[in-house]
Amino acid sequence: MSDDDVELEARLEEQEVFEPSESFVSQANVSDAGIYEEFEENWPECWEGAADLLDWEEPYDQVLDDSNPPFYEWFTDGTINASTNCLDRHLDERGDEAAIEWVGEPVDEDNVTLTYSELHEKVNEAAAALRDLGVGEDDVVTMYMPMIPELPIAMLACARIGAPHSVVFAGFSADALATRMNAADSEYLVTCDGYYRRGDPLDHLDKANEGLGSVEHDTDTVVVDRLGPNGDDFGHDLAADQHDWGELMAANEGATVEPVDRDAEDMLFLMYTSGTTGQPKGVKHTTGGYLAWTAWTSQAVLDIKPEDTYFCSADIGWITGHSYIVYGPLALGTTTMMYEGTPDHPDRDRLWEIVEDYEATQLYTAPTAIRAFMKWGKQYPEAHDLSSLRLLGTVGEPINPRAWKWYYKHIGDEECPVVDTWWQTETGGMMVTTLPGVKDMKPGSAGPPLPGMDIRIVDTNGDEVEPGRAGYLTVNKPWPGMLRTLYKNDERFIEEYWREYSDVDSDDPDDWVYFPEDGAKIDEDGYITVLGRVDDVINVSGHRLGTMEIESAIVGVEGVAEAAVVGGDHEVKGEAVYAYVIVEEGQEESEAFREEIVQGVLDAIGPIARPEQVIFTPELPKTRSGKIMRRLLEDIANEEELGDTSTLRNPEIVEDIRKVVQGN
Ligand code: ATP
Ligand code: MG
Repeated sequence: MSDDDVELEARLEEQEVFEPSESFVSQANVSDAGIYEEFEENWPECWEGAADLLDWEEPYDQVLDDSNPPFYEWFTDGTINASTNCLDRHLDERGDEAAIEWVGEPVDEDNVTLTYSELHEKVNEAAAALRDLGVGEDDVVTMYMPMIPELPIAMLACARIGAPHSVVFAGFSADALATRMNAADSEYLVTCDGYYRRGDPLDHLDKANEGLGSVEHDTDTVVVDRLGPNGDDFGHDLAADQHDWGELMAANEGATVEPVDRDAEDMLFLMYTSGTTGQPKGVKHTTGGYLAWTAWTSQAVLDIKPEDTYFCSADIGWITGHSYIVYGPLALGTTTMMYEGTPDHPDRDRLWEIVEDYEATQLYTAPTAIRAFMKWGKQYPEAHDLSSLRLLGTVGEPINPRAWKWYYKHIGDEECPVVDTWWQTETGGMMVTTLPGVKDMKPGSAGPPLPGMDIRIVDTNGDEVEPGRAGYLTVNKPWPGMLRTLYKNDERFIEEYWREYSDVDSDDPDDWVYFPEDGAKIDEDGYITVLGRVDDVINVSGHRLGTMEIESAIVGVEGVAEAAVVGGDHEVKGEAVYAYVIVEEGQEESEAFREEIVQGVLDAIGPIARPEQVIFTPELPKTRSGKIMRRLLEDIANEEELGDTSTLRNPEIVEDIRKVVQGN
C-alpha cells in the first residue's frame, strides 16, 4: 500500500458518520428532510403519495381500514393490475427502452435485452398460454426456475390474469417444491429442463419431476427449454401433463390478454420464507399495498429513475428479487438487470464486469457477497470502470462496519451512499434504512425507520429500552407492504408475528404490535442496529450476548474475512462462545492470529464475550440464500448429532468443520 492508501484506510477506520456526497444529494429523488415530520403528522394519508405512483382502474376509497386488526386493508375498494403498472403504462414513452437486461451464464454470448414492448408482448403471449391450460383467477401457479427471463415473464403473465404466483427457489430440493405445491393447492408449475452452473449444464427437470411425484393432486407443468441441445444428454421426454413453453408461446403469438381488474387487497403472490429457522411460512402479499410499497421504496431509497440501469444481484426466488428486481423497478419504468450465475465464474470480477459493460447506476447486494469480494481483494473491482454507479445497497444480514467501508470505498469510490436496508419477506419491502439523499450514514447501523414507520426497540415487557441497550425490534403501526396473513392460516399469522407484544383480544389497532423476531438497539439519533434473530443469543454466565455483535467485533480484526459465533455447552459458564473464522487471502491461520482475534473481542465487548475456541475454517455452512446456519455449528460445538442439512448450499463443509474441531 502507498502512504496515501494507509492514511485513507486509517481515516476510514476512525470515521463513524458519513455524509452523502453533494453530487448524489443534488439529484436525489428525495432530498427534503421534512418528509419525516410530514409523514408522522399526516399518517396514514402520507401513503397516498405511494399509491399515486401507480395507475388505478378504480380509485380507492380509504387509505387504511384498521377496523379489524391485525387484518389491515390498504387502499380499499381500489382496483388495479400489477402487469399493467409494470408494462402497459410505460409503452408510450419507454416502449423501445430496455425493461430487462438479462446477462446469462457465460457459456454462449446469448445475453438478452427485452424492451418494454417486447416484454409486454411476451407477457401477453404467456398469459394467453396459461389461460389455455386452464389457469383462472386466484389459481396459484408455482414457479421453479433459475434466473432466466421466462421467470419474470411468467410472474407478470400471472399478475395479468389475476393468478397468484408462488416462486420456489431453483436451488431448493424436490421435497421443498412438493411441500410448497401441496400447501398452496397449486395445480400448475412452470419450470425448465435445466440450466448452467459454472459453465456446465445442470439437470433441473429431474428434480422438478421428483417433486411432482409427491404432489397430492393433478398438475399441469410448463417446461422452458433453457439448454437446447446441451440438455439432450438428460434424455427428458415430456409427460402427457407437461407442455413445452416454446410451443405454447408460438401457438399464442401476437395474442393480447385484457388485464384482470384486481381488488387492491387481492393476492398478488405467495412467498414461502426461506426456512432458516423452521417450517416455511406461506406469506401472502396483496396487489395494491405491495406494489405501492415496492414502487415507493424503490424510488425513495434506491433512488431509481426511468433512465437508470439498476442492478440487484439477488435471485428472484427470494423476496428481494420479487420486490427489487421485478415489481418495484418495473413499476417505475426503469431498466432492471438480471444475471444468471455466480460472482466468481468465470472469474472473481464477474459483477464488476457486468457493472462496467452495462454502466449500472445502482448495485443492491448482500453482506455475505461483500465479505467475499473483500476476501478476494480489491484488485478485481479495480480492474473495472465502476464510475457509472451512483448508489449502493445491502440487504439480508447486518453488515459489519469494516465490510461497509470496503464497499463504500472500493466499489463506490466514496461517492455513492450505501443504504443498509432492514426488512423481511413478511414486510414486503424496506422498513429501516437511511433515505440516501437526506440522512447521514453510520456503518453497522441500518439507520432510522423510514418515514411513516413506528418502530420501537423494547424489552420483554414491551417497554422501550434506553439507547444503546439491546432489545427487540417491534413495528407499532401497519404499513402498505405488510403481509396480510399466512396462507390459509390466520391463527398461525397471529401466533408468529403478533401475540408476543399485542393485546390479541383488542379491536384497537394501538394494541397491536408486529414482532419480526429480530433483536436490535437504537442510538441517541434514532439509528437502529439490528443484532440478528432473537434465537441467536448466547447466555454466558447469565449475560445475554448477541452473536452478531461478537461476529462484528471479530470481522473488525484485520485479516478476518468472515465469522460465525455460536454458544457451546460449558460446565461453569452455562454457555461459551465458539467462533468460527474464515481468514482473508494471505492471512496465516496461526496461534498468534487467534490471540489477535480474541483481543479484538475483548477490546470491542469485554471479557464476558471472550471466545472459548477460535476455529479456522475455509467455509461456513450456508443456506441457499447465503445465510449462516448457526444451529449446525452449535451441534458441532456441543458434539451432538447434526440436524437437517438439506437446505444447505454446501452440506459437505459441515463434516470438514467437525473434523477440525475434534482435532483441536
Ligand atoms: P425464515 O424467516 O424462514 O427463517 P429468513 O428470515 O432468513 O428465513 P428473510 O425474510 O429473507 O428470510 O430474511 C429476513 C431477515 O434477514 C430479517 O428478519 C433479519 O434477521 C435479516 N436481515 C435482513 N436485512 C437485514 C439488515 N439490513 N440488517 C440486519 N439484518 C437483516
Ligand atoms: Mg424470517
